[in-house]
Amino acid sequence: MSDLRIPADLLPADGRFGCGPAKIRPAQVEALAASRLLGTSHRQAPVRGLVGSVRSRLADLLGAPDGYEVILGNGGSTSFWDAAAFGLIERRSHHLAFGEFGAKFAKAAGAPWLEAPSVASAPAGSRPLLDDVDGVDVVAYPHNETSTGVMHPVVRAAQGLTVVDATSAAGGLAFDASASDVYYLAPQKNLGSDGGLWLALVSPAAIERIESIAASDRYVPESLSLKAALDNSRLEQTLNTPSIATLVLLDEQLGWMLEQGGLDAMAARTRRSSDTLYAWAEARDDAQPFVSDPEHRSQVVVTIDFDASVDATAVTKALRANGVVDTEPYRKLGRNQIRVATFASIEPSDVEALVASLDWVLERL
Ligand SMILES: *Cc1c(COP(=O)(O)O)cnc(C)c1O
Repeated sequence: MSDLRIPADLLPADGRFGCGPAKIRPAQVEALAASRLLGTSHRQAPVRGLVGSVRSRLADLLGAPDGYEVILGNGGSTSFWDAAAFGLIERRSHHLAFGEFGAKFAKAAGAPWLEAPSVASAPAGSRPLLDDVDGVDVVAYPHNETSTGVMHPVVRAAQGLTVVDATSAAGGLAFDASASDVYYLAPQKNLGSDGGLWLALVSPAAIERIESIAASDRYVPESLSLKAALDNSRLEQTLNTPSIATLVLLDEQLGWMLEQGGLDAMAARTRRSSDTLYAWAEARDDAQPFVSDPEHRSQVVVTIDFDASVDATAVTKALRANGVVDTEPYRKLGRNQIRVATFASIEPSDVEALVASLDWVLERL
């Protein structure tokens, strides 16, 4: 199908619609090229100033309440799950699993020094209720489940620390930070940077938990120690060498987001882009939003099912051959589907162009 040539005037100006790594705006790459920080020491003032800027801009963007702090460490969100099993869960956690990522944290929390976690699951495309579970000290769920395109509002759990996976949500969805104790993320999605780093907005209660587990006799490897991350973050550094390029790109993106009007402006942008796609799917006879409840539909990751008359793989292949990339569905979901990121960096006009390109391709396949 790669011989289909979508007319240039229909194509998006930028064809990157992947859910991570995701589009990095050209202005960020220019800032990176001009940066004098690459290749300099992460223990000296210029790079520590960069880390300080990332910490304060992220706190600003997320609307950090008094006493909340941004901490960071190497390894991405996947490492954060292991760090949380070592240094945030006291005895037992409760997890909402409604896709790949929520389930992965639940698995990491099955560590031998903890009691078996409690897990509430829901079939892909829906989400479970946030029930009150007794005897848990961490309640964890994703703000946005990237594998399925389902969002869950940030609401405080009845007990324990509320720990929210914001990897694909942060910077694209509005929320009330005071309802979470740990809002953690990696910057390769809405925050338009590269992978390999995790950051978390932590509450005073979460800091207390980190300190108290660190003071206990539990063995914690240094590179997964949240206490080490907390202490180093307060000195505007990481335990070991970070990717400075990732930090430069991230700082640029945070500055841009704040300049554009902050989280509310970004959420309005992702809302507009995702509405374009959902309305398009609903108007077609051969497509429909995968997530049936409109309230649960993500405004940063849009999943659209096709009926049997359409071969979604042929669609994504034709798009890819025309420079429109990464619209394939989450690999383990195995559906006749496309998945499109509508992250903050993606121009709403490019989403409109994507829809026009899809119509063109569907007519010709
Ligand atoms: C991408 C993603 C992750 C994994 O992030 P890594 O940095 O690759 O570990 C975790 N949770 C969610 C919700 C994600 O979208």
